Amino acid sequence: MTLKIVTMPGDGIGPEISEATGFVLDAVMERFSLDLELQPDHMGFSLLEQEGETFSDRVLEKLRVADGFIMGPNDTINYPPKEEGGRNPTAETRKSLDLFANIRPAQTVPGLGYTRKPMDLVFFRENTEGFYADRSMALGSGEFKPTEDLALSVRKITRQASERIARAAFEAAKSRRKKVTAVAKGNVLKISDGLFLEAVQTVADDYPDIELEIVIVDAMAALLVRSPETFDVIVTTNMYGDILSDEASELAGSLGLAPSLNVGESIAMAQAQHGSAPDIAGQDKANPTSLILSMAMLLEWLGRRHNDASLGEAARTVEEAVRDCLNDPATRTGDLGGSLGTRAFGQAVADKVKG
Ligand code: NAD
Repeated sequence: MTLKIVTMPGDGIGPEISEATGFVLDAVMERFSLDLELQPDHMGFSLLEQEGETFSDRVLEKLRVADGFIMGPNDTINYPPKEEGGRNPTAETRKSLDLFANIRPAQTVPGLGYTRKPMDLVFFRENTEGFYADRSMALGSGEFKPTEDLALSVRKITRQASERIARAAFEAAKSRRKKVTAVAKGNVLKISDGLFLEAVQTVADDYPDIELEIVIVDAMAALLVRSPETFDVIVTTNMYGDILSDEASELAGSLGLAPSLNVGESIAMAQAQHGSAPDIAGQDKANPTSLILSMAMLLEWLGRRHNDASLGEAARTVEEAVRDCLNDPATRTGDLGGSLGTRAFGQAVADKVKG
């Protein structure tokens, strides 16, 4: 069965890291004879130029019938207002395709990382509600301004979404170190984070062999620095997960190492954790590891979903090739103290994949 994968490079460093990811994807498709149909398309400023919008209903309909997609970052802060075509592709895809789980691993490479302490953890970040006012409502925005001097943000927490992300986290913990850390601020947000923690506990009751630990979010920011090796699977709400996962990735070495997969019931989106990095865009400086490993996560997810062992093997081969390159100071990008540019790093990983 041919699986349809839409690719959209996006803004800033997006085209560069997407090109490097493409080198690796081509290599792994050839090596494992993967039956993937790549469908290149656009979003962000390149789509604005072509269709007058940074995201379009045409692209969304194409994604609806795809098996997965690989999306670059969006420079949302510089998009024009909505009435002039500024639509947020990340927000719209997460909401419209119900990509409820944002899975964000952070793993240190030996010798790299700020604390030099080993870290091998994965965030399960709820991806559809919380403080994301532009996408958490059926109609209207969760952020509003009743008077010129009063701004309000509504944070949405539901039992259903909390249980769903918790179940995804506990399922993942079964094949890892059998520990889930739930992060919240239940001591202050007693009702909303209280509901989240109640939902996590309900799910935890179905997994008696997995330890559940509860950590307050501000302490978690410190503990990630002090003792990252004590964490394995972390489940949390949308905004806490966004912030803490960036912290973990940077502690592990660089935001450029940070992959993520946005998972729904029948489709998943590979996207780096970071943004469009305008400060280094167009300079061949970005580390494409983030998107290359996101692509590997997508292959692994597709392999499990379609019971196709070759996709799983392809994903592991890409991960090993990236690890080999990162382990060698001669094949590292500038953010890790190396001398390779984005293209050359992508090529080096692709060469290792080819074997
Ligand atoms: P950013 O994540 O783009 O960059 C933060 C820092 O990390 C910068 O110094 C950047 O150079 C560095 N960095 C990021 N990716 C890197 C890589 N692959 N290799 C090496 N260094 C890397 O955050 P920002 O600058 O605050 O945001 C820029 C734009 O991205 C904004 O418009 C923001 O809204 C958007 N954004 C988009 C997404 C997304 O598309 N999912 C996520 C976060 C931010």
